[in-house]
Amino acid sequence: MTDCIFCKIVKKEIPAREVYRDSEFVAFHDISPKAPVHIMVIPLKHLESLSGAENSDKEMLGKLLLTVKKIADDLGLSKTGYKLAANNGAGAGQLVFHLHFHILGGWKAKPHWEV
Ligand code: 5GP
Ligand code: ZN
Repeated sequence: MTDCIFCKIVKKEIPAREVYRDSEFVAFHDISPKAPVHIMVIPLKHLESLSGAENSDKEMLGKLLLTVKKIADDLGLSKTGYKLAANNGAGAGQLVFHLHFHILGGWKAKPHWEV
């Protein structure tokens, strides 16, 4: 997609602080972090959101979650804990319509979570 900002990051047309890249996924720091460590994990393939996923995406979606786990392990977030979020649709706050998971972590003190 030519006007998708995450496709532009995939193609390195705009810069991002990448922490991981392979033949299917790329992960980079969020430009406006909502946690001490806030990483976006996206497939190279453009897919608007989880709602746009089909059975043929089964393998990619499984690998995407395992890639999230690897990145969290590599960044040391698995030890202290992290949240994983995917906003699905404008009504849930999705701003970039290229499937992505937010990894949020890196808190020093134990926060009090409502959910
Ligand atoms: P959403 O609300 O769609 O789930 O999340 C989109 C996220 O992408 C937001 O947290 C926002 O800060 C991040 N973001 C938007 N544009 C850019 C960009 O150009 N570079 C990076 N690294 N993150 C971006
Ligand atoms: Zn895209």
